Amino acid sequence: MTELDIEKLRRATPGCVNVTHFNNAGAGLMSQNVVDTVTGYLKLESMIGGYEAHAREKQRIDAVYDSIARLIGASREEIALCENATRAWDMAFYAVDLQPGDVILTANAEYVSNYIAIMQAARKSGAEIRVAPDDEHGQVSVSGLAEMIDERVKLIALTHVPTSGGLINPAAEVGKIARNANVLYLLDACQSVGQLPIDINDLGCDMLSTTGRKYLRGPRGTGFLYVRKSVIERLEPPFLDLQAATWTKMNDYEIQPDARRFESWEKSYASVLGLGTAVDYALDIGLDNIRERVNQLAKQLRDGLAGISGVQVHDQGLHKSGIVTLTVDGLDPYQLHEILQERGINTSVSPIDYARLDLEPRNLDALLRASVHYYNTEREVDRFCGVIEMIAEDHANK
Ligand SMILES: *Cc1c(COP(=O)(O)O)cnc(C)c1O
Repeated sequence: MTELDIEKLRRATPGCVNVTHFNNAGAGLMSQNVVDTVTGYLKLESMIGGYEAHAREKQRIDAVYDSIARLIGASREEIALCENATRAWDMAFYAVDLQPGDVILTANAEYVSNYIAIMQAARKSGAEIRVAPDDEHGQVSVSGLAEMIDERVKLIALTHVPTSGGLINPAAEVGKIARNANVLYLLDACQSVGQLPIDINDLGCDMLSTTGRKYLRGPRGTGFLYVRKSVIERLEPPFLDLQAATWTKMNDYEIQPDARRFESWEKSYASVLGLGTAVDYALDIGLDNIRERVNQLAKQLRDGLAGISGVQVHDQGLHKSGIVTLTVDGLDPYQLHEILQERGINTSVSPIDYARLDLEPRNLDALLRASVHYYNTEREVDRFCGVIEMIAEDHANK
């Protein structure tokens, strides 16, 4: 992306003039066209009625499935629209029929809500949890995970890019293991969709969940689930409604044959359309371009921070994402977050209870997370490093 492209993308992002937004792993800034899509549809609902607006815009709403399918290399029948990534993941996870003695195989980067669900399901079903070790780079060990596969393993659950660190897990290598062993593979791609080129066939996953609001820059309260056609009929969703199933006879129902079975009927169609606009926007810019630009900024940020005394960068992994995590010696990350906020810099804090498998063994209680997107600038990164340097110096002198 040239400087000119970035200028244009920033002009199309109203928030860029207000803040230095390094909280893209929390929620990306929406572009003006996403905002216009959402507000335009809400206005239509208010003017002609919610059901009537849906009927009028049905084609555009249906096209959102096509956009998402294009984004990840799937077909529209394999996409379910959900209210967030967690529910999308849950709908797939709780549909796996776990029996006593079955094994759920996961890794240290697993997202907090997923791991809570895994523990709950294991307790209820009598299934066992296995956590694959990390390799020397701090990403999931592909060989270590392969060694843990046996006939009891029912599901591999992996987080592609964790919320609390810069690593990118080797999801496609894990996919090969899953394919070879014929084990269901559920990939949490919440931080990777919109940031990296994602192709479900390269990844080899059976199920993939993501959110709308992070690197895709869609509205909050949106997400989607992908489920491979060949496994849809094997997965019975934990709850059904009139969207997921049809009441065919007085005492019978039929579950939808496609991924609609994982949806609920009621939705914010304004947000769905906003998500569609965000997906189209990302496709227009190009995921390869986005990845390259995010990579470049994140590298600049890590390199800048690494040169400041009293500052530690904690990101692991052979390949790294736009998520940069750091601590300043002797300074509580929450306090650091607040100081940055006062200076117009958005970041967030990842506490230990968001990532115990990862942070507890490394004796990390909380990290400051600075996550960059393509619309951030080199100048913002420089300024951020300058502010951190000043804070670290200030603190060292106390
Ligand atoms: C944010 C996040 C989630 C949860 O997404 P929601 O849309 O808030 O449900 C899941 N997994 C990872 C890795 C995340 O970063």
